[in-house]
Amino acid sequence: MSTEKAQALVIRQADFSESSRVVTFFSREFGKVSALAKGAKRLKGPFDAALDLLSNCRIVFIRKSSGALSLLTQASLSSRFAPVPGSLNSLYGGYYLAELLASLTEEEDPEPQLFDLAIKTLEELADPQADLPSAIVAFEIGLLQIVGLFPNLTECCVCTAPVKIEGKYAHWVSQGGLLCNSCRRQEFQGRSVSAGAVALLRRMTESGTRMSERIRLTKDQTEECHRLAVSVISQTLGKKPGTLRYLKFK
Ligand SMILES: [Zn+2]
Repeated sequence: MSTEKAQALVIRQADFSESSRVVTFFSREFGKVSALAKGAKRLKGPFDAALDLLSNCRIVFIRKSSGALSLLTQASLSSRFAPVPGSLNSLYGGYYLAELLASLTEEEDPEPQLFDLAIKTLEELADPQADLPSAIVAFEIGLLQIVGLFPNLTECCVCTAPVKIEGKYAHWVSQGGLLCNSCRRQEFQGRSVSAGAVALLRRMTESGTRMSERIRLTKDQTEECHRLAVSVISQTLGKKPGTLRYLKFK
């Protein structure tokens, strides 16, 4: 048992009892952390309004030995997610981000880079001027890359031949990679990916590409990259993320 401090984003909440909640955080220091927040449901509870979904807060918690739920002792709000008024994409983009962090990361597996990406993405989602689909796609790709789920785009996942991206269409399979022209099969029809998208994804995920220097995508490219990211995410989760149906990409 130890007392820990962290900067953390609220990504899930569940009722625990009449007055308490279990809050799941994605923290910069410890990755995903679930903690019991006693009194969190009371009107004048000990955590005020710091524990709203997607609030970014400074927390103190007592970390229990493996398996047991941590106990939240303090939470103070650093910033609140304020979706663009009237924009469902902004609101549900935030929920989608929370769902992906909750379902694709492990407890106590710190990924500070992913935390920073999530904060940056929420800022974009709250910005009325921002291009929301491309912010969401950049988050999906960044997340997949950081948690090690991003597919290998350089060689065929069957024969390991280098994937040629000039003019030819590579074939995407959900098993985690591309198929070259000689390994492609009829049953994978409809899952092709354009050479352009492969080239873009490679550039977006090249080491050294900083998040601030994001590559600009056209609407079609954004949609194609989103489709590929969702196929990997859905394959991993065994279903499509629930909040996805509310997001509009066109
Ligand atoms: Zn092949």
